[in-house]
Amino acid sequence: MEQSSKRLSVKAGDAIFAEDDAPTTAFLIEVGRVVVSTIQHGEYRQLGELGPGALLGEMAVIDSAPRSATAHALTDCELTPIDRNQFAERLAAADPVVRALLMSQLTRYRSALATLTGAALSETELKPSENSAAFDKIRLESELRSALERDELEVLLQPLLHIPSGIIAGYEALIRWQHPTRGAVSPNEFIRLAEETSLIIPIGDYVLARVCDMLVDLRNRGREPLPFIALNVSARQLDDPTLVDRMLDHLRSRDLPPDRLEVEITESLVFNQKQIGQLLDRCHAAGMEVALDDFGTGYSNLGPVLELSFDRIKLDQAFTRSLHTKRGHALVSTIVAMTKALGCEMIAEGVEEVSQLEALRELGCDYAQGWLVGKPISLQQVLETG
Ligand code: C2E
Ligand code: CA
Ligand code: CA
Repeated sequence: MEQSSKRLSVKAGDAIFAEDDAPTTAFLIEVGRVVVSTIQHGEYRQLGELGPGALLGEMAVIDSAPRSATAHALTDCELTPIDRNQFAERLAAADPVVRALLMSQLTRYRSALATLTGAALSETELKPSENSAAFDKIRLESELRSALERDELEVLLQPLLHIPSGIIAGYEALIRWQHPTRGAVSPNEFIRLAEETSLIIPIGDYVLARVCDMLVDLRNRGREPLPFIALNVSARQLDDPTLVDRMLDHLRSRDLPPDRLEVEITESLVFNQKQIGQLLDRCHAAGMEVALDDFGTGYSNLGPVLELSFDRIKLDQAFTRSLHTKRGHALVSTIVAMTKALGCEMIAEGVEEVSQLEALRELGCDYAQGWLVGKPISLQQVLETG
């Protein structure tokens, strides 16, 4: 074998690696053909022939087991070596479910090969502990899928107090999953999981439909003026170009005014300003309002506030909690002034104490949300408490 620059030149008939060699490199075949073989019960057996564009010897590199076959150049070959670390780093960074799938296939292939050749099966299986986290995740995802089908997801409403008037002007819709054995699973856990797959799309649609039905119930109960309900929208939903149209369809079919549905977009999603700008334009043209959620926690970048015309800014809980300190108070005071100067309204999140509400009132904050105003409750409870 001859190495020129980064490529390897192998002459026809030469070995590239042999069975039981330690794995250090895989190869990408650039030119030529390679034959992979093994010895089965003392007899030569060809396992396959590979040509340009194929990966060679990647299996042993992935699971660090000795080579389970021998490779020879059938013709003169050019190979690009791929260091095992290049795979190892990507594998370590990969989705654990994808990693578990790959390892499961690899184990099965090796065991089939061992049966074929009569060799003893080497200990290459993935550690069970490594697998179990991935399988827990897959299990949870399947359960979430059927929870959605079986209507086990619940949408709660948390009241938003309009501070100057003392009226509950709106609610934020917050999803809950009552798991049959795990109990209440936090949306922080399962929304992220749903976002990793496209499951967030049907979940988002479910919440949207529930929220619109709730607005109808509130209207039928004579809640006047009709409160607005704010809906959390996640990254994958924002990629869906039909999102705003579907929202409008739901509102129109129930004869609801578009300004009773508000969209909440978390600050960390606003890095794609063009996309969010288009969404804002579509919402505003239709009469819907948009809030920037978790303000101050994302990239601490004022670009979005400069470029995008949000109707409301939701101050993250951490700032509300800091109100009793001099620095915290100064910062919140400045954020309220900035919000006002931009013509937006401000909602403070995580208001738990009377002193926080009083400080926010003095500073001129428009809305308060938090345990002090009310915890997330079912629509039934909302209707009962008037
Ligand atoms: P978020 O949008 O920031 O929602 C506010 C969270 O703060 C809620 O947590 C709420 O229960 C909690 N909270 C409200 N007041 C207080 C308070 O006074 N003190 C404290 N300590 N916490 C308070 P929750 O319901 O667990 O939701 C967590 C996150 O899950 C939400 O954060 C939101 O990002 C996401 N989420 C919830 N429902 C949905 C949904 O329908 N769709 C999407 N995409 N995300 C959702
Ligand atoms: Ca929110
Ligand atoms: Ca928030």
